[in-house]
Amino acid sequence: MGEETFGFQTRLLHNNHKYDRHTGAVSVPIHHASTFHQADFDHFGKYDYSRSGNPTREALEEVIADLEGGSRGFAFASGMAAISTAFMLLSQGDHVVISEDVYGGTYRVVTEVLTRLGIEHTFVDTANLEEVEKAVQPNTQVIYIETPSNPLLKITDIKAIVKIAKSHGILTFVDNTFLSPALQRPLELGADIVLHSATKFIGGHSDVVAGLAVVNSEALGNRLAFLQNALGAILGVQDAWLVLRGIKTLQVRMKQSAQSAQIIAEYLESHPAVEAVYYPGLKTHPGYEHHFSQAENGGAVLSFALKDEAAVRHLTANLQLPVFSVSLGAVESILSYPAKMSHAAMPKEERERRGISDSLLRLSVGLEDPKDLIKDFEQAFAADTVLSKIRD
Ligand SMILES: *Cc1c(COP(=O)(O)O)cnc(C)c1O
Repeated sequence: MGEETFGFQTRLLHNNHKYDRHTGAVSVPIHHASTFHQADFDHFGKYDYSRSGNPTREALEEVIADLEGGSRGFAFASGMAAISTAFMLLSQGDHVVISEDVYGGTYRVVTEVLTRLGIEHTFVDTANLEEVEKAVQPNTQVIYIETPSNPLLKITDIKAIVKIAKSHGILTFVDNTFLSPALQRPLELGADIVLHSATKFIGGHSDVVAGLAVVNSEALGNRLAFLQNALGAILGVQDAWLVLRGIKTLQVRMKQSAQSAQIIAEYLESHPAVEAVYYPGLKTHPGYEHHFSQAENGGAVLSFALKDEAAVRHLTANLQLPVFSVSLGAVESILSYPAKMSHAAMPKEERERRGISDSLLRLSVGLEDPKDLIKDFEQAFAADTVLSKIRD
């Protein structure tokens, strides 16, 4: 039976790195070495210096390339390091068309760093293909999308975006953090680069900050390898190991969390205190059909709006189970307040124009029993105290 016939969860465990070729160790060895002895004066070995290449980091880079169906993978010190390095493929005078409700950190790099380097951008609702087509300029080099987007879970049709990009001879970048390759594989739909905050679902345990990139061609691989080495925002080996460990359970975690998210989204949708629920697994969610044509299920993240900020404060203060924090994609459920957290880098008027209001909460569903999460919501909605402070 060839490896390609294995299911996704089997491939997470049985790949080139299931054991160490030299020792048989059933865990990728952590190579701390920063430099490597060269036995031959004229011909250096595969590794010389760990910024340029390290066996532990390389194991992770090979694993993620395989899982995304790409030709080469890269591990970075954070999701933002991966994204920023990929943007360095662009040059002064270039232009990017980008999803308007993109991750706050990406928004910051595009608006406050790339602009300084003479790289321009146009934010569009990438769910609207006409707007995307209209935004492409002669100097556009990249269409950059997130689907589902953050935090409103807007759906962009990846294949249609790729078609527009290819018709102009430009690249498609997809931030696949929200679904991971367990649920969506953009390269198989024609995208050129997939980016990840591996801090989220891929790592999965709120214990490591990491970023990944996977490209679809050797030529792009060589260009990104050059930049990874030149800029040096590489992932450390301990962190690479943590990500490798997290990956082993990626599909079982995603499957369980997505199942629970579906149940919780339906519960919230029927709750009178909830004004709107944003979750791609709901048939009423805009883009539902497109989403299910390119992804396995609705994913593990949902957002919902209450009446106002006071209602958000009340619920947040009374919920016991989810941690209240920045981030998502972990074994424990994480409740976030986009206006002050992931999208704090976005000016208030820009946020509100994008529908990221002060009454919006985002929930990343973890591995708790969904019945317990719903019970927790029930008691929190019903609580008659309005705490002025977030619980300890
Ligand atoms: C968290 C996140 C990032 C940034 O990743 P870091 O690991 O925090 O640098 C990028 N995109 C999305 C969608 C994210 O959720």
